[in-house]
Amino acid sequence: METKIRKLRKSEEYQEENRKTLQEAGDILKRGGLVAFPTETVYGLGADALNEEAAKKIYAAKGRPSDNPLIVHITNMAALGKIVSQIPDAARKVAEAYWPGPLTMIFEKTKIVPYGTTGGLETVAVRMPSHPAARAVIDAGGGYIAAPSANTSGRPSPTRAEHVAEDLDGRIEMIVDGGPVEIGVESTILDMTVTPPMILRPGAVTREMLEELIGEVAVDQTLLKADSRTAPKAPGMKYRHYAPKANLVVVEGEVEKVTAWIRETAATKQQEGKRVGIIATEETKESYPDGDVKVAGTRADEATIASSLYGILREFDGDGVDEIYSEAFASGGIGAAVMNRLLKAAGHQVIRIT
Ligand code: AMP
Ligand code: MG
Repeated sequence: METKIRKLRKSEEYQEENRKTLQEAGDILKRGGLVAFPTETVYGLGADALNEEAAKKIYAAKGRPSDNPLIVHITNMAALGKIVSQIPDAARKVAEAYWPGPLTMIFEKTKIVPYGTTGGLETVAVRMPSHPAARAVIDAGGGYIAAPSANTSGRPSPTRAEHVAEDLDGRIEMIVDGGPVEIGVESTILDMTVTPPMILRPGAVTREMLEELIGEVAVDQTLLKADSRTAPKAPGMKYRHYAPKANLVVVEGEVEKVTAWIRETAATKQQEGKRVGIIATEETKESYPDGDVKVAGTRADEATIASSLYGILREFDGDGVDEIYSEAFASGGIGAAVMNRLLKAAGHQVIRIT
């Protein structure tokens, strides 16, 4: 199949063209086809969430394991009432504060949500995105759009339309190109079917932000451990994920010691004939004379690192490095999401410098 790639443009004179593109995307979704589109977190691969056959196509295009449920994207609270059987008070509060936005909540589903969308579960994950193009595509596509990240399963999630094309060109009907996304890591997932509510995946809406609003919020402990025997509560979190082709190692400890260790290791590996990639920050980039050094952002604001991380991991794939060393970053705020994705990408290979 030929994948249409349609750019959305900012200036006024393109508004009519943009409107047609979004309508075309909606028409494809209504017919049961697949369309990738930008959201504020990462690019999503959309299909009609209430059409089991359409949802199945997502699994085929991504090579996604069929027990990994999809998030249903909506644009308004009336839509939520149709797909979930009960909305707890705490969920209403959270929705009021953080929807539309980078947050997914899990509820008990109603009958109209097929098991093909929920991976066989009685619960459904729901998000209301804020990105205007995402909202337009969802509305034009019928209002209930399943949209996992638009990458091949296991690869880093796409933060630009080019990343989507790299993975899915020829496998989906259309890519709506809205330029680079804003946040760069997937939504926070909050399970509202348990007490206290539990974070199953950290994201831009942090535990601190949620606790301020609704009191105690738990965090799925399996997210933090390397070799936990219990399965994570979000089925998708058990799979190898976000991973670059090269061996990735995260180096933790005091920043000066970490940079010294990476500098020495990079020099040694290069002498052995290996190609080394380094994930550094504005503050540390001058410390590395050897290696393919990429700046992820600044330690002054982990959101900058969130927005560049997946793109950097993909660039290293293109550069063909053998080993990647990444500095560890602070884990407060959105840093929790950054470190969760980085550690998963590294298969939890961590070196702690003391
Ligand atoms: P993605 O959309 O590719 O970022 O992945 C969606 C994530 O949401 C995966 O980790 C899923 O396992 C998780 N998820 C979706 N629906 C549910 C659900 N009903 N219960 C628990 N986790 C879910
Ligand atoms: Mg994903």
